[in-house]
Amino acid sequence: MSFQETGLSEKVLAAVTAAGYTNPTPIQAQAIPHALAGRDVLGIAQTGTGKTAAFTLPMLCRLEQGRARARMPRTLILEPTRELAAQVEESFVKYGVNHKLNVALLIGGVSFGDQEQKIMRGADVLIATPGRMLDFFERGKLLLTGIEILVIDEADRMLDMGFIPDIEKICKLVPFTRQTLFFSATMPPEITRLTEQFLHNPVRIEVARPASAATTITQGLIATGHGYAKRETLRKLIREADNFKNAIIFSNRKRDVAILHKSLVKHGFNAGALHGDMDQPARMASLDAFKSGAVNLLVCSDVAARGLDIPDVSHVFNFDLPTHAEDYVHRIGRTGRAGKSGVALSLVTSDDVKYLSDIEKLIGTKVPWIGGGLDSVVDEGVKENGGGRGRRGAPDRSGKDRSRESSARADRFRERPRREHGLIASMEPVVPGEASEPAPAREERAERPARRRDARPPRAERPRREDAPAAREHAPSVRGPIERAPVERHDRRPRRGEQDDDRPVVGLGDHVPSFLLRPTKFVKTDKIPAEE
Ligand code: AMP
Repeated sequence: MSFQETGLSEKVLAAVTAAGYTNPTPIQAQAIPHALAGRDVLGIAQTGTGKTAAFTLPMLCRLEQGRARARMPRTLILEPTRELAAQVEESFVKYGVNHKLNVALLIGGVSFGDQEQKIMRGADVLIATPGRMLDFFERGKLLLTGIEILVIDEADRMLDMGFIPDIEKICKLVPFTRQTLFFSATMPPEITRLTEQFLHNPVRIEVARPASAATTITQGLIATGHGYAKRETLRKLIREADNFKNAIIFSNRKRDVAILHKSLVKHGFNAGALHGDMDQPARMASLDAFKSGAVNLLVCSDVAARGLDIPDVSHVFNFDLPTHAEDYVHRIGRTGRAGKSGVALSLVTSDDVKYLSDIEKLIGTKVPWIGGGLDSVVDEGVKENGGGRGRRGAPDRSGKDRSRESSARADRFRERPRREHGLIASMEPVVPGEASEPAPAREERAERPARRRDARPPRAERPRREDAPAAREHAPSVRGPIERAPVERHDRRPRRGEQDDDRPVVGLGDHVPSFLLRPTKFVKTDKIPAEE
């Protein structure tokens, strides 16, 4: 099928030609005619399939008639992350060159003022993350009664991030008569339930996951030790990689992303970082630097990187094997795009190996070990993120007490100074030969505000839920007039890899006994008690 046969308007076809596309991808060929006919669409497809154009192009055609009114957007696209929202906005700019449409972006980490102005002017397209959108709605700055088309993108990722209650709420706020275009890479039961509740007689379109991209991706497993040894293994892989142009490096934890990034920079690599605790301008700057080639390594967490369209990545390194097998497919799919060849190498420690069988089951093939399996590794490294395990004094899997192990290993640790509250917070690794510079782990923690409740910023300044894992753990660098505090979700399904629940509790942790928070009363009196 050609684009002409899909029924797209002349203006849109001209933009598609200008974008250099010759034929629609399978999801586009199947979804566009139904979307143009006003049917609800359930698209089971992931990034890389061309699904953004599959909803953007018919939306542009529909928007050619009619005009937006102040505070009443005509279409609404919900995205789980700020980066994805920004990426969809770029698509509207690209495909909408021949249209004069107002596109507004509502994402956390950006000032309310500019966003409000755009909505006031009347938005044809509103692209939003659910938390920020509900904020606007609840403040009365946004009316949803004019929504003609609702797009819910990356629904399974929304589920992972705990946004489903928000999505349900939004679906009930937009008119019943709207058209809904719903996309998800997978269909877990919660997502199926949602589609049954909110889609009306949808056309179901399923396109093969781009795991077929695996044919252009050379995969491999590299056995390694923990901690310093693991970072050294990564550095060696980068230095010795064939046809290396650039690489995305995935780590399971936000904290490790920061540590690894700092370590790479310290070792002279040209690296950027992308994780949910970074503020929005920093995230966008990292992404832009990587896309433009200003940095050739990008260390990421899954939440921040999922779905991003970064063409031309020569290598993917899994610094940790992902805890969810699905994420492995997403990660390696960052390379080997558009028929190009790519390399995806995964570092595997004795802790990571338990995730391997699920991954191999999902991709339906064994990933070969390069340079020998775990038996060939003498693990001298120290686990740095495994909660109790790997810390001095804690028995490891073999039952050994690490505190009695070689003094050389013990030298990698030093106590943190006592904090003002007089408690030793934690032990932390010091990278050998890097002692003159502060260890990344400590730097990262130092940036983190104290966790005592009385030291937290006022509610209005706490981060939004767009990056739920980030919002729960850290005080923000985002400052905006946000009045609604993040709600602790009981229904969220946290992702194991993204949890930072292994961090040591500092001081009283988040809990401060209420009697300590009570204001002290000073009684004014004129009488000065006589000295005894
Ligand atoms: P998406 O799955 O929407 O993230 O799209 C993945 C990539 O495919 C993006 O870089 C698009 O620019 C590109 N793309 C989308 N549609 C087409 C098409 N019909 N032909 C070629 N490339 C496309």
